Parts: sequence; structure tokens; C-alpha cells
Amino acid sequence: MNKQTEIEKELAQLPILEYEFFKPEDIIFSKEVRDLCEGNSCGLYNTSWACPPAVGSVESCIEKCQAYDKAMLFTTATEMASSFDMKGWMRARVEHEALTDQVAAVFRCYDKDALILSTEGCTVCKKCTYPDAPCRFQDRMYPATESYGIMVMQMAPSLNISYNNGTNTVTYFSMVLFNE
Ligand code: SF4
Repeated sequence: MNKQTEIEKELAQLPILEYEFFKPEDIIFSKEVRDLCEGNSCGLYNTSWACPPAVGSVESCIEKCQAYDKAMLFTTATEMASSFDMKGWMRARVEHEALTDQVAAVFRCYDKDALILSTEGCTVCKKCTYPDAPCRFQDRMYPATESYGIMVMQMAPSLNISYNNGTNTVTYFSMVLFNE
């Protein structure tokens, strides 16, 4: 049984909505995505080890991703009361990050150096140590796909993954890069 088959058996136990494996060469990078980060569109630029500039230049992020053998993109989708349901957004993100921890644990059993990318910023510590001291939990700090300049919106349809799962539903994405 190859590594992907073994991993898929374990993923089947988790509440992932959709996932797909692909080659890192197929990741769509876009300078515009990283520019949005650097323009501080989410307000998190320069606030944690999981965001630019701490994650390194977009060129170094591309190089890092392309050094892996394989990649996997997965989603969760959570229903909310409305698009203004801020508590619902927050709950969905907490649930997605908890699932990302579980997915990371599965992959890291097979490749301890697997790279995990997830949603914006990092919510592990109440107050990030950035920039005064090293990250407290390197293994739980997942940089955002956007911080790496990855265009998830464009990649999802090419992988047959839904970018939008309906009205009043929030869909979150994470990506794993690993070696076979
Ligand atoms: S794990 Fe803690 S110290 Fe590290 S980036 Fe996240 S919030 Fe900051």
C-alpha cells in the first residue's frame, strides 16, 4: 500500500468536506494574492510568525512548496445564521483549524516535515511572540495559503473542489505539502 492510500484511509475518519491530491507544480501562485496580504487587507500583516513578512519572500515560499513531492487541498463548510453571523464565522474557523490539526497529525506520521498552510493569521496563542521571541509552537503554526501567494479560488475548480458551498455557508481551505 503506498503512502497516499494509507493517508486516505485515515482521512476518511475525519469530517473533511472535499479533498484532492496533486503535484506542487500545479499550485497557482499569484503576486496579487500576496500583494493583498502586504496591503494589510485583513489587518494581520506583520503581526505573527504565520504572516508576511515573517513567512519570507513569495519567491522563497514558492521554492519551499515546489521542493515537496505532493500536495493536498481540503475544505470544511459550515452553515451560519446569515452572512453577518460573526460568531458563526468564528466558530467555523475554530472548527476548521481543529480539523487542520488532526489532518496535520495524520500527514506528519508519514512525513514529520510536512508543511501545513491554512487560514489567515495564527490563533494558537492569546498573544503572539512576534517579533520579539521565536514562535512557541512551530508545529502548530500554519501560515495562510494567501501569505504564500497561493490562489485557492482559481485552484479549487481545477481540482473539482467547491469554492462556495451555498448561501450562508462559509468554506475554509487548508493545504498540505509532503514527501512520499
Ligand atoms: S503559535 Fe503562537 S507564537 Fe507561534 S505564530 Fe502562532 S500565535 Fe505566534
